[in-house]
Amino acid sequence: AKFVYDFTEGNKDLKDLLGGKGANLAEMTNLGLPVPPGFTITTEACKVYLDSGAEPVALRDEVGAHLDALEKKMGKKLGQADDPLLVSVRSGAKFSMPGMMDTVLNIGLSDKSVQGLAKQAGDERFAWDSYRRLIQMFGKTVLDVDGDLFEDALEKAKHAKKVTVDTDLDAADLKKLVTRFKKIVKTEAGRDFPQDPREQMDLAIHAVFDSWNTDRAKLYRRQERIPGDLGTAVNVCSMVFGNLGPDSGTGVAFTRDPASGHQGVYGDYLQNAQGEDVVAGIRNTVPLAELEQIDKKSYDQLMQIMETLENHYKDLCDIEFTIERGQLWMLQTRVGKRTAGAAFRIATQLVDQGLIDEAEALQRVTGAQLAQLMFPRFDDEAKVELLGRGIAASPGAAVGKAVFDTYTAIKWSRSGEKVILVRRETNPDDLDGMIAAEGILTSRGGKTSHAAVVARGMGKTCVCGAEELNVDTKRRRLTVGDVVVEEGDTISIDGSTGKVYLGEVPVVPSPVVEYFEGRMHAGADDADELVGAVHRIMAYADRVRRLRVRANADNAEDALRARRFGAQGIGLCRTEHMFLGERREMVEKLILADTDTEREESLKQLLPLQKQDFVELFEAMDGLPVTIRLLDPPLHEFLPDITELSVRVALAESRQDNNENDLRLLQAVHRLHEQNPMLGLRGVRLGLVIPGLFAMQVRAIAEAAAARKNAKGDPRAEVMIPLVGTVQELEIVREEADRVIAEVQEQSGVQLKLAIGTMIELPRAALTAGQIAEAAQFFSFGTNDLTQTVWGFSRDDVEASFFTAYLEKGIFGVSPFETIDKDGVGSLVRSAVEAGRATRPDLKLGVCGEHGGDPESVHFFHEVGLDYVSCSPFRIPVARLEAGRAAS
Ligand code: ADP
Ligand code: MG
Ligand code: MG
Repeated sequence: AKFVYDFTEGNKDLKDLLGGKGANLAEMTNLGLPVPPGFTITTEACKVYLDSGAEPVALRDEVGAHLDALEKKMGKKLGQADDPLLVSVRSGAKFSMPGMMDTVLNIGLSDKSVQGLAKQAGDERFAWDSYRRLIQMFGKTVLDVDGDLFEDALEKAKHAKKVTVDTDLDAADLKKLVTRFKKIVKTEAGRDFPQDPREQMDLAIHAVFDSWNTDRAKLYRRQERIPGDLGTAVNVCSMVFGNLGPDSGTGVAFTRDPASGHQGVYGDYLQNAQGEDVVAGIRNTVPLAELEQIDKKSYDQLMQIMETLENHYKDLCDIEFTIERGQLWMLQTRVGKRTAGAAFRIATQLVDQGLIDEAEALQRVTGAQLAQLMFPRFDDEAKVELLGRGIAASPGAAVGKAVFDTYTAIKWSRSGEKVILVRRETNPDDLDGMIAAEGILTSRGGKTSHAAVVARGMGKTCVCGAEELNVDTKRRRLTVGDVVVEEGDTISIDGSTGKVYLGEVPVVPSPVVEYFEGRMHAGADDADELVGAVHRIMAYADRVRRLRVRANADNAEDALRARRFGAQGIGLCRTEHMFLGERREMVEKLILADTDTEREESLKQLLPLQKQDFVELFEAMDGLPVTIRLLDPPLHEFLPDITELSVRVALAESRQDNNENDLRLLQAVHRLHEQNPMLGLRGVRLGLVIPGLFAMQVRAIAEAAAARKNAKGDPRAEVMIPLVGTVQELEIVREEADRVIAEVQEQSGVQLKLAIGTMIELPRAALTAGQIAEAAQFFSFGTNDLTQTVWGFSRDDVEASFFTAYLEKGIFGVSPFETIDKDGVGSLVRSAVEAGRATRPDLKLGVCGEHGGDPESVHFFHEVGLDYVSCSPFRIPVARLEAGRAAS
């Protein structure tokens, strides 16, 4: 195999082999842009090194040959005493990863060649500055010396000279610093700083290879689901110098504003500087536009190159460049990150410029970005006082009074206060407080901390790991510098940016939601421009998608909103919500009934109420399918809490005025109590053991449909039986349902076409889907329960307890309740789809449950061939977009 590619040999599509940086350096070289010559060592070489512990035998010679060629091209030899060639050794994997080795600049400098470099450049200060940078970077990244030791020594040198910036140190100061740095290396690494240039280069290359397997890099890969065996490439690039005086410098640039997407001049520049100085913030950079005054020729050339790159990559690019004595050099480019709003704008701008087509535009945005744009956000215009910044863990804009413990959070929220729960970090005991709070703020922990995971699961705003904040739960306050926030003081947190503000920041509704609601139209100003872009992208998605999108909605109001958001039906109407409120009493009577007559009595009372619910729903969804699930939850959920009831009964007993009804209730609660309600008497099992319950529900649906038909409506009801494990269960319920429907038809004289189907949410149902399809006209995969039963864990118990540990250990990259577990749960779905369709080719297939609105899961459902996904009304646009992206 070939292990080394010259920059002239690669191209941008070779990211697997050359890494992102190497592939793009090659691409720029081939475009004729000024890239310092160099070569890339492939990820294959890295893999061999990591597998066998030694670099491939051929590598040394291959690197030698490429180095020879580079030296010829440059007319000087690596580290040559009188005129050294210097190189940088740069890591570059397919995906850029925090925790991997950075770059070592100025390789090839030694005690001897530093003199040669000084003479050649006619600048002694520059040479010693470069040398001290080499020892510092090499010491830190290759020899594992604590970087602070070098920083401290540099600070001391500046302090001794009473100067504040590194450029004020002269050659003599820097020379002394080099001696000091070499001593640090010797003491800390137990070896001398290597003087042999090839040894420097080889050690740096090995250090890049090794950095693939640092703990941080491994953890990052597990969490982001990046395969562990990709390896990293290594780029060896001849040095150009931005630290050669005021006519030199280094900078970063974007071809468009990554925040708005607008074209223009965006970036930062720093004179007389090298490498990371720009981002490290050691001196003040100037806006890129000022380069025009500093060096017009380089500026014009850079503008030209940016245009070339945009037209070539057909996307926003970010760029790292250096100017050496008036000569511009390109050191890196890649397709740049951008904000959610900019992603939509840029995609449509590029369509308008004729650079990309609509299908490609769909690939340039994501459902996650759309979801971000749909959260209400803080008013940009508002005057704010920033307290600090943490990790944007769960999006949204939350305002409330700071409270520092769960108890207060619950107490205050019960009395109508909005609160933000502030903790150092949260644990399962904080769960109730988190539920009560508007938002959660922690000073510790990352994206997979308990607070972050649980908040995302609940859809609650969360900022975590805001380290500047000093949270003192004992004294119930937090401090930042000399600002003190006491319990009860109002704070605002932005879960989309991670920013924390003092006081109440006004919240504005998302213009994108206003648009979906039909309250706003595309126009001219900035928000309108965003809406216009979203509107166009949604139209592209709707045009190409195959998956239909339905809503989970239980009432007419939700159904109407869902319709405005583009729902093509209801995929899940839960009927249990129709049994609450004032109807609870009737349900209690039903549960307590001793005789058939009593039971029938209460069912008769419930019937007209249920029917009216359905009439409203069919009206809201006229002409679109509405899937109604018969009663699913365990009955005791409709009974009073056992503790409260016991207390009430005990109190009454002591007063000797026993309430007959309470006593019976208590008996029923005891009778119905279950160790594992999730696996107990629920779903179809209720229908089979409580005579008349399902029949009443089916009658309500059928009568409602008949009423709508009589009113010239177009009801499309589908009856769905939950928690079926075997076809026999379904057959019994179906027989009864068919009988009831026939009766209603006869009584009303209206022909009804009700579909009857089932949920597939138990492993056994999935495994016997072929049989179940004999009795079902449709399947709806209930992937929440299916995930619980396939994994054998109950969602309510595990998310708050051990999921954090699982995420931290990288056992999952994301909770299987958030994104469908393709290998396990997904493979059951896949085989059930096949078996079901084999039995009944026109079987309608859908999914309800949270996964229906999750971007990655939507792609999976598209791929396995479902007909529709169903999700909460708010997720519908996201599902539409992702269904379009999956199909394009
Ligand atoms: P990162 O992946 O952290 O951005 P790079 O390999 O891009 O690391 O290096 C960081 C910076 O070092 C570059 O932006 C550039 O300023 C500087 N640099 C890298 N190689 C060279 C070089 N050959 N000549 C001059 N500067 C370089
Ligand atoms: Mg870089
Ligand atoms: Mg279920």
